[in-house]
Amino acid sequence: MSVPGNQQTTKSAAFFERAKKVAPGGVHSPVRGFRGVGGTPRFIERAEGAELIDVDGNRYIDFCMSWGPLIFGHQDADVAEAVRSAMTRGWTYGAAEPYSLELAELITSRIPWVEKVRFVNSGTEAVMSALRVARAATGRHKVIKFDGCYHGHLDSLLVRAGSGLAEMASPDSAGVPPHVAADTIVVPLNDLDAFRAAMDQHGHEVCVVAIEPVPANNGLLLQTGEFLCEVASITRKHGALLLFDEVISGFRVAFGGMAELTRIRPDLVCYGKIIGGGFPVGAYGGRADLMDLVAPAGPVYQAGTLSGNPVAMCAGIATLKKLLRLDPYAGLEARASQLADRIEKAAARSAPFPVRVQRFSSLMWTVMGEARSRDGIARSLTEIPPEQKERFAKLFHGLLANGVYLAPSGFEVSFLSTVHTDEQLDRVVEAVGEARF
Ligand SMILES: *Cc1c(COP(=O)(O)O)cnc(C)c1O
Repeated sequence: MSVPGNQQTTKSAAFFERAKKVAPGGVHSPVRGFRGVGGTPRFIERAEGAELIDVDGNRYIDFCMSWGPLIFGHQDADVAEAVRSAMTRGWTYGAAEPYSLELAELITSRIPWVEKVRFVNSGTEAVMSALRVARAATGRHKVIKFDGCYHGHLDSLLVRAGSGLAEMASPDSAGVPPHVAADTIVVPLNDLDAFRAAMDQHGHEVCVVAIEPVPANNGLLLQTGEFLCEVASITRKHGALLLFDEVISGFRVAFGGMAELTRIRPDLVCYGKIIGGGFPVGAYGGRADLMDLVAPAGPVYQAGTLSGNPVAMCAGIATLKKLLRLDPYAGLEARASQLADRIEKAAARSAPFPVRVQRFSSLMWTVMGEARSRDGIARSLTEIPPEQKERFAKLFHGLLANGVYLAPSGFEVSFLSTVHTDEQLDRVVEAVGEARF
């Protein structure tokens, strides 16, 4: 175990300097650059089980888990075997093949609301394509999203709320055209009145209401079952389609994701992360009549040179089959629940403010202070404590120095896998108790 404060990071620091010369911010996805917590991003050389090993030889217990795909940890033996075997048959054909068929049948035979599915290469692509289908199916153009949900970096959803209730969205990134943002309406999470008002005003123009049923990209903003059910029924009442973005929650909170747990049947659903077992796979699917609008069956164009990549498909098949075989959900739930309790107790000794773990299934988020809500649970962006970012940075670095790697942002969740050992969880709890704020 590395000694706090004495961790060697010379090689990571040197790599970071070189990387900044050749890539924006030195990274290929922004949060990896440690802007949210400060300090030098660790350059990871390899990973096994629940451990990351950096270029300086430091070992970390990993709770980022590549942002969700690795529910069985790094280098799972079954996934590794499937990938090795797939590689002996070539790694891309650009033609029809049986591997995407097997994965599609695996999904559609067990998830009844996914009657047909199309594989793409990322969650972003899946959501972008699902919106195109929704527009084509309804002849309407406006999209509703919830403030605090993330759906990938497509222009039309890279937007945030304007000022005022149910206002037209403003771009949340430079380079997003205002006229694209103007077709998106952003409403706060956990606020049925705002959603109703937005639908009363714009419902007739809305093609789709998109929601992460477990919003897990701005902390873990837990929604109530009642809120999700009402959103579904109001959406239907206005003739709009319901899109569940289950890129994180799909195969994570249950095999059929949050739709299975809530028994809400979305018209369209997007998957990513776990579905590719750690390889770049996304998928969109849903009602057959909607999916049959997609080319070549229908007029909605959507394509991909490497879509349905056979190696990635085999990694996905191995992962999903293992989920069906082991049914790890009750076990993950029990261990995550215990871990969350122990982290709260340990933090009560080290932090001069309350630390709560908001958790759903094996998704966990440490809230650094009182949530600004009546029941003490943050369910919307404005309920997150204002000190979240700076306080989390201290927790993050305290843990990192003790060999624990959380996602480097106070607004990202931790992922428990089936391979985290009891000893590793003990060490995390200990490190939380030793953190300095
Ligand atoms: C990760 C994520 C995406 C984007 O997926 P990428 O593969 O990163 O493009 C979309 N929606 C949700 C809910 C996600 O968590």
